Amino acid sequence: MNRTISRLVVLLGLSLVAAAARAQMGDPTKVTLKTTPVAGSISMIEGANGFAGGNVAASVGDDGVVVIDDELQPLTPKLKAALAALSKKPVRFVINTHWHMDHTGGNPAMAAAGAVIVAQENVRKRLSVDNVMHMAGHEMTIKALPPAALPVVTFADDVTLHVNGDDVHVIHVAPAHTDGDAIVHFKLANVIHAGDTVTASYPIVDIDSGGQFEGFIAAADRILALADDNTKIIPGHGPLMTKADLVVYRQMVTDVRDRIGKLLAAKKTVDEIKAAKPLADLDARWGQGFVKADFLIESVVKTHPPAPEKGRAKAKK
Ligand SMILES: [Zn+2]
Repeated sequence: MNRTISRLVVLLGLSLVAAAARAQMGDPTKVTLKTTPVAGSISMIEGANGFAGGNVAASVGDDGVVVIDDELQPLTPKLKAALAALSKKPVRFVINTHWHMDHTGGNPAMAAAGAVIVAQENVRKRLSVDNVMHMAGHEMTIKALPPAALPVVTFADDVTLHVNGDDVHVIHVAPAHTDGDAIVHFKLANVIHAGDTVTASYPIVDIDSGGQFEGFIAAADRILALADDNTKIIPGHGPLMTKADLVVYRQMVTDVRDRIGKLLAAKKTVDEIKAAKPLADLDARWGQGFVKADFLIESVVKTHPPAPEKGRAKAKK
């Protein structure tokens, strides 16, 4: 179990930078969860001393608890305890921002306890079958979830939950991290959970899951259009962000796209692009996690030009 977890954590330990943290993230029994109030009745739950999975948003109120993403499976007891500390009411809904197991690991337990799981339709499709992922020279197979742990409500473009006095708008964006990415907008609380379309480091493009580098720019634009100076943005991994932080992230993604695009237009090969080190000045801030510059360059080149895709056109409206 630990080896499986540490392998997937190596694959998905997107934004952890410190060697000390990396040494710990293979052992979920050592990870504790930290809860931070975000706005209104919404809190963010994250790993405090190791990799617990993606950031969780929890909305609590008269209707019960609504959870966005539910960490790695071994963290489930700790996640349940963290939620119980916020509210005695049951978890009514779980929204998965995408299918990766560091965002859906709690699904089996949450569903068993009566929660309704909601996700974009491609998330259910991918969670229903075994998936093979290739990343930075690693290959791994992720087993399908049992049927009872799958999303039972799916949507193509968007869906709104009217719960806890808020309108919770779940929006499918053009393929970026995967082809089932959703962002979640708590309209009244002015909080947006970005899933892994926004993190604290270089983007991970899961090409096996239909990810497209260009989509990260579109997703950032989608979020920026919904945000104002008071909006709290919960990234998939990393600390809470403001709109100004997201502008900086979008600029990095755009710089990466433009610089590599220019070299591609000049007919450079992947190896020539890597040798030119076009991202050298960005690495210190963004390239210390799982995605190093060379892997990012490969991801950009492989998804360039962006494939015309159904979700892409749809997400524009
Ligand atoms: Zn992910």
